Amino acid sequence: MAGNMAGTITVADLLKHGSAGIGTFDGIDGEVVILDGEVYQAVADGTVNHVTDPQAKLPFASVHTPTDLEAVNLTGVDFNLLNGSFIRQHELQNVFAALRLTGTFSHVKIRIMPKQEPPYPNLLEVAHMQALFSRDQVKGTIIGYYAPEIFGSVTAAGWHLHFISDDRQFAGHLLEFSAPQATGDLQVFDMLDQHLPVADRAFRQSEVDLASLRAGIAESEGNQE
Ligand SMILES: [Zn+2]
Repeated sequence: MAGNMAGTITVADLLKHGSAGIGTFDGIDGEVVILDGEVYQAVADGTVNHVTDPQAKLPFASVHTPTDLEAVNLTGVDFNLLNGSFIRQHELQNVFAALRLTGTFSHVKIRIMPKQEPPYPNLLEVAHMQALFSRDQVKGTIIGYYAPEIFGSVTAAGWHLHFISDDRQFAGHLLEFSAPQATGDLQVFDMLDQHLPVADRAFRQSEVDLASLRAGIAESEGNQE
């Protein structure tokens, strides 16, 4: 988020840590969805690539191995519900969790970050270049994570969810959605394993302006309350 956008972990290494998740590619090239070990990349023109190169590198990703799943069945679901009653009912406020939801979504709005070249701008500058897309009546899967406010300096607090349609033609970082009904599963984690790119000189040498970083996260990573 502070501008270290060069890829530092390969797809092959990332998938050793989990078979489901989200992320982005080298130069924050698009929005990544990982389901059942298959990696999909939505790029800024709106197309979706099935990534099969195990050596492709990502600067950021979150993955997990689905296990100990709690089934969820939601009616009238949108970000309002996830941010409100869902967090309270499942007591997520102090824990990290993964959520997967499938269904026919009446409305989905996504953004896709455009690939950047060095010298990298900060995430806030890139956020102003993001491509926005929306679809109505689309079948698909939402996958991603909840991070609690108390660990908000480890990663952006709140929901970070990506969407991919069942036909794998429409995907991105989820900004808005609604569905009359959606089913899926919730997984609460008792452990967070954070891998840092210690061999990356740019990361080791970079000096991060924390105040502007936090402002940028709030503006670019927030979802609809
Ligand atoms: Zn995202």
